[in-house]
Amino acid sequence: MSETGEPGGAAALLRLSGVNKHYGPAHVLRDVDLEVAAGEVVVLLGASGSGKSTLCRCVNRLETVDSGEITLDGVPIPAEGRELARLRAQVGMVFQSFNLFAHRTVLENITLAPLRVRRLPRERAEARARELLDRVGLADKAAAHPAQLSGGQQQRVAIARALAMDPRLLLFDEPTSALDPEMIGEVLEVMSELAAEGMTMLVVTHEMGFARRAADRVAFLDQGRILETATPDAFFERPATERARDFLAKILRH
Ligand code: ADP
Ligand code: MG
Repeated sequence: MSETGEPGGAAALLRLSGVNKHYGPAHVLRDVDLEVAAGEVVVLLGASGSGKSTLCRCVNRLETVDSGEITLDGVPIPAEGRELARLRAQVGMVFQSFNLFAHRTVLENITLAPLRVRRLPRERAEARARELLDRVGLADKAAAHPAQLSGGQQQRVAIARALAMDPRLLLFDEPTSALDPEMIGEVLEVMSELAAEGMTMLVVTHEMGFARRAADRVAFLDQGRILETATPDAFFERPATERARDFLAKILRH
């Protein structure tokens, strides 16, 4: 991989080209080009309001784009209907607020989509859910309700729930921002393991340690525009733009 952060030749699993998005008069994504190759981890950095969440939401089509194209494995993201449901099954998303169903058990939270969307037999869905709970270190919490878990545990359930659909791509939008400091590490650890196992991931985070360790590339978003993509070493040691230098100075100071 070059220092400029070109993906290493492999065909992009996710590709955004010339993506623009407005909210009314606000131009929140500006000519965004971004590729994530299969097995790659791209960390999206940028100040609050720079468009990181909007970019994620466009990728799984919680939002539409005004122009440009987003493709998954070369296929444009479908607009609606059955094709869109299929896309959503391929793109898992983990949010800042864990978004678990409060009145359902941990096991039910994880099996819901596999049962309803993929129509897996209950036995298989539950076996897989237990396997995933074990993987995120929560094998003993299957029968618990979300309110009985810590924030870190809830977020690990949310990750297990995303994995239960066997997604080709995982989106993380500030998955640790709502957590107490002592719980951030356990969630980042699960994410690092996924990265090491070859999961394709697009991650919005302010955890610079994670970005340095786990990212193959970093993309820096500023006012809706991607100003830099680079390897973590290049970005953190030699940011190319004044805006990125400012951003790093602010975020690394506290
Ligand atoms: P980030 O995740 O980087 O903090 P966002 O993608 O949430 O940034 O927001 C980018 C810009 O778009 C901000 O100016 C925000 O106020 C605006 N915005 C986000 N969502 C909406 C919305 N649903 N309606 C109007 N403006 C929005
Ligand atoms: Mg955001």
